[in-house]
Amino acid sequence: MSSYQNKVKIDIKNVSKRYEDVDVLENISIKVCEGEFVSILGPSGCGKSTIFNIVANLIDYDSGSIDINGKLSYMYQKDLLLPHKTVIDNVSLPLTIMKEKKHRNDFLNKKEAREKVKNYFDTFGLLGYENKYPSELSGGMKQRANFLRTFVTCNDIMLLDEPFGALDSITKTSMQKWLLDIKNKVNSTILLITHDIDEAIMLSNRIYVISKKPASIKKEFIIDKDYYNDDNLENIMKLKKEILNLL
Ligand code: ADP
Ligand code: MG
Repeated sequence: MSSYQNKVKIDIKNVSKRYEDVDVLENISIKVCEGEFVSILGPSGCGKSTIFNIVANLIDYDSGSIDINGKLSYMYQKDLLLPHKTVIDNVSLPLTIMKEKKHRNDFLNKKEAREKVKNYFDTFGLLGYENKYPSELSGGMKQRANFLRTFVTCNDIMLLDEPFGALDSITKTSMQKWLLDIKNKVNSTILLITHDIDEAIMLSNRIYVISKKPASIKKEFIIDKDYYNDDNLENIMKLKKEILNLL
């Protein structure tokens, strides 16, 4: 998909952020359109999670503007499942928690929440694991449970902060393929944070490469899958080199 043709779902304009004596973000502008998969690629500690925390309205920013057109869900970098709850209760937790927040009409009781999420266990590769505890799951399965929890919270716009960071490379590759597959089925809008160049190229329609702290946008790449794919590895190599030179 080419950029900017669809409705703009996230519009970050010239956002800057400073923590006491440290400039973290400098004039960050990022646009994500409906159905797009966009990655923010940058080195560790440059301010990527800060961007998400600002988009999710968890922290303030100093200047610029942010427009969100839709509902967000946010998969944190460290998204631990509660060890004393079963997988299905972990996944349905956000649906029951809404009760305590202001969305009084949205909340479900435990039974309703379980019913709602149950149908997705097959698609998310977790069928038969509903009543297991997180410690009984492999790393990939835990991460799929995290995805499912984010997904049932809301699948309009999903913010994914380094979701594959802790996985071994074999599990990671199969999870990336799985995510693309899911994405193509549900047509969510996805903004992903990563420091992995291959991952960004494989998954994204567009990539914003950001510099080390204070983070600014170095360059935006449109990833045309007809040009960048496994049959044209040379093109991918060239692109990787160009991105590496920017970082
Ligand atoms: P990334 O996700 O790219 O690894 P972060 O957004 O988590 O980076 O953090 C960017 C920088 O902002 C870090 O180098 C850190 O020094 C600083 N930082 C993050 N949170 C705070 C905070 N609450 N107070 C002060 N500095 C912070
Ligand atoms: Mg981070």
